[in-house]
Amino acid sequence: MYGESVHALYGHRVIYDAGLGTSALVKQVILEGRWHWPQNSCQVIEIQSRVQDIRISSSSDCIFWDSPGQTFSTHKAWNGIRCPSSEVPWYSLVWHPLRIPKHSFCFWLALRGAHKTRDKLRVAGSILSAACVFNCGEEETLEHLFFSCPFSHSVWTTVLAMCNIVRPTLPWTEEIDWMTHHSLGQGFPASVRKLAFVVMVYNLWTERNRRCFHNLFLPGPEVIKKIRQEVAWTALSSRKMQLSERHHSLCTNWGVSWQGLSR
Ligand SMILES: [Zn+2]
Repeated sequence: MYGESVHALYGHRVIYDAGLGTSALVKQVILEGRWHWPQNSCQVIEIQSRVQDIRISSSSDCIFWDSPGQTFSTHKAWNGIRCPSSEVPWYSLVWHPLRIPKHSFCFWLALRGAHKTRDKLRVAGSILSAACVFNCGEEETLEHLFFSCPFSHSVWTTVLAMCNIVRPTLPWTEEIDWMTHHSLGQGFPASVRKLAFVVMVYNLWTERNRRCFHNLFLPGPEVIKKIRQEVAWTALSSRKMQLSERHHSLCTNWGVSWQGLSR
């Protein structure tokens, strides 16, 4: 009634007095196109008088969200119940248009420091040694894995070169900072950088898991080959990606040509 339920305005007692039951429908208080509330108590009589100027429509009922005319969507509902956090500077690295969800999720876990690296497992008592599975003799931490470890350092150095970026590798948080500020926009070079970075983090993490849980391993060049293929396939399958002769060098590095994938 005017945006509030009868129950909220009058309490449970009025439902009992009206004799309507808790699951009564509005149509039970309409008779021949007019409001027809039972006249059992002064509160119900008051309701009958208050609803007189509410027009009775013969069209079907519609459910609105928030205000009349606003349709319901899970998007609106989610935004209605959640507490939004402040925007993080690196969000465009994770949630860019070419993202592959499993890669983005793995990368987001890394950004949040949520991967169960071996240093955490040792502290929790799950394993005795936190030694890096790439056999470098160091302890496995997030920062070691991305990219202080000689194995991941070598992969990242190669991927940087394939992105035509000439600079030394940086500690994890500085890499995130650098990539955030040097891969802005949706152009081909920026998109390839973002894609390559996220695909590489995913492949390093899965290679680490392959060694941890399956006792199998791929050598560095094979990991780089997988990264190259995944980046190339994603770039080519995107209709948004505009390839042009200007990007000839990048296309060659990643095995992408105007006709399709090259070797
Ligand atoms: Zn290592």
